[in-house]
Amino acid sequence: MKSSRIAERVRRIKQSPSSAAAERAAELRRQGKDIVNLVVGEPDFDTPAHIRKAACEAIERGETRYTATAGTPALRKAIADKLASENKLHYEPRDIIATCGAKHAIFNALAITVESGDEVLVPAPYWVSYPDMVLACDGKPVIVVCTEADGFKLTPALLEAAITPRTKWLILNSPSNPTGASYSLEELRALSDVLLRHPQVLVMTDDIYEHIRFDGAATPHILNAAPELRERTLVINGVSKTYAMTGWRIGYAAGPSDLIAALDVLQSQSTSNPSSVSQAAALAALSGDQSFVADFAGVYRQRRDRGLELLNAIPGLSCRTPGGAFYLFVNCGGLLGRKTPDGGTLQSDVDVVMYFLESTGVALVAGSAYGVSPYFRMSIATAVEVIEEGCRRMAAAVAALS
Ligand code: PMP
Repeated sequence: MKSSRIAERVRRIKQSPSSAAAERAAELRRQGKDIVNLVVGEPDFDTPAHIRKAACEAIERGETRYTATAGTPALRKAIADKLASENKLHYEPRDIIATCGAKHAIFNALAITVESGDEVLVPAPYWVSYPDMVLACDGKPVIVVCTEADGFKLTPALLEAAITPRTKWLILNSPSNPTGASYSLEELRALSDVLLRHPQVLVMTDDIYEHIRFDGAATPHILNAAPELRERTLVINGVSKTYAMTGWRIGYAAGPSDLIAALDVLQSQSTSNPSSVSQAAALAALSGDQSFVADFAGVYRQRRDRGLELLNAIPGLSCRTPGGAFYLFVNCGGLLGRKTPDGGTLQSDVDVVMYFLESTGVALVAGSAYGVSPYFRMSIATAVEVIEEGCRRMAAAVAALS
């Protein structure tokens, strides 16, 4: 962005690479190209009927006005009940704020705490938005690269080495977008042992994929491992992924009362409450039938297994088995240095992704967007036939390399 009338804090950030890739795939499709879209970062299921119905009923009842900035008492109580029953985390409704999506909660949490130059530890591979959100809040993202050999997980040694007196936050995301890496309770305990030695560090847990995991177990929380961290931990979650409600824009944060109070003030002077109708829908989601949540996870699991089988059969590609979320994070190092039919050489994961897009119409996101190379992210939030077709085309494109 060149225009000098745009503030520096916005000029230093960029559009989300996954949104950019999704828009590029949509554009090519509009031009009539046959595109297999494996970029999508949202469930392909419809929001369940009882949730949609609750929203319609709320409209008919006249729940169409402003609510309390932090959300309706009923929704905050439902969130408190969910955190207690599912996560064994006990918060009063007043220590919870509903937001316009988890993304909004994360952004506002950084906005209320980060001073110019404060460091925020972002383990890579990371969700694309974290570093740019930190930059937009005048902070310094400190990228901590986690290796494939470590399962793309932060280790205590890496964490210890990255902490400085300026470290304000550690952001943890389990299961992770893009790798699906999921921390065990023991791993979280080991990380908290380090954190307990550094009381200036706040901990933000992005739990948005907690229910999309493949072992049927509950996702452990760092506060289960180390309740001592409670006064400096902010729990972030939302209904987007679990309930196929990405468009409704309801997320939330739970945490220490000073942080929640500051979030409330900022929200009161910016967006005000999240949509009243969406809050009614989220209330129905959290307090209604949960049986389909496991059904969704089962469907993702079948797609994961099929995608892994096909990808790992393509020479030059390899993929670890993700524990959760709906992505495969594929190592494409074996393709680097190979020649394309038009004489080019694949030098990076961006080249690989461009080659797949231009030669076979398969849309993916390059690993560099997530802070590590050479990888690409392939979404499995789409029909198994689409995954199969994408893999078939990638196999053909790889076979055409010399
Ligand atoms: N965190 C992660 C890791 C995500 O992948 C996403 C969605 N792509 C979000 C947060 C944002 O979710 P929401 O729709 O609730 O804003």
